[in-house]
This record gives sequence, structure tokens and C-alpha cells, in this order.
Amino acid sequence: MANKDKLGIQRCTDCKALRHPPRPMCGECRSLEWDAVEASGNGTICSYTVLTHPRFPGYDYPLIIVLVDLAEGTRLTSQLVNCTPEEVDFELPVVMTIQQDADGFKLPVFQLAERA
Ligand SMILES: [Zn+2]
Repeated sequence: MANKDKLGIQRCTDCKALRHPPRPMCGECRSLEWDAVEASGNGTICSYTVLTHPRFPGYDYPLIIVLVDLAEGTRLTSQLVNCTPEEVDFELPVVMTIQQDADGFKLPVFQLAERA
């Protein structure tokens, strides 16, 4: 298994909304109270968007942005890696892996479960 890192997802303790990247205030209910849940990293693709523009430095293009239905019962927007736009589809099983960017910030990204 490639993903030995665990992802702690920040969770609003008032409305239970998950959010990433971590930020102090809940975007749903504006609560400042939060804890963290450990995500299993397993999910399925609920929706996706292929971005070719605008381009941000440090990312590979085209960028596949996926909305993932996590096994935890919430949804998370992230990036699908090791995959081409032709291969991505709705309902495909994906697993999370942790990618570290140039600033050392750890990002959860997904790849197709069959590749993991
Ligand atoms: Zn909230």
C-alpha cells in the first residue's frame, strides 16, 4: 500500500462538516469549534472537473479535480493523480494518498483504487 500516511480531516463539531485544507472557521455554520477525524481514504468519484486553465505553478496539467464520496459519509474535493482525463469516470473507486507540495504542505490527493 502506498498510503501509509493518515489524513486527519478537520471537522466542525457543531454541524459536522468536514473541511480541507484546515482553516479556523467553518464555512457552513461559522463555528470556531472543531476536531479531527481520521479518514480511511476510501471513496468513490461523485463528480469531476478537468482543468486546463488557469495554470498554477507546481501542478501537472491537465488537473483533474474530483469530488469524492468518502467512506466516512462525507464529500471531499481533491485532486486525482496518476490518471488521465480519459480514464476518469463517475463511480470509480479511489483511495487517498498524501502528497507533499514544494512548501512542505501535505495535501490529500486521490488515485484510482486499481492503481494503489
Ligand atoms: Zn459548522
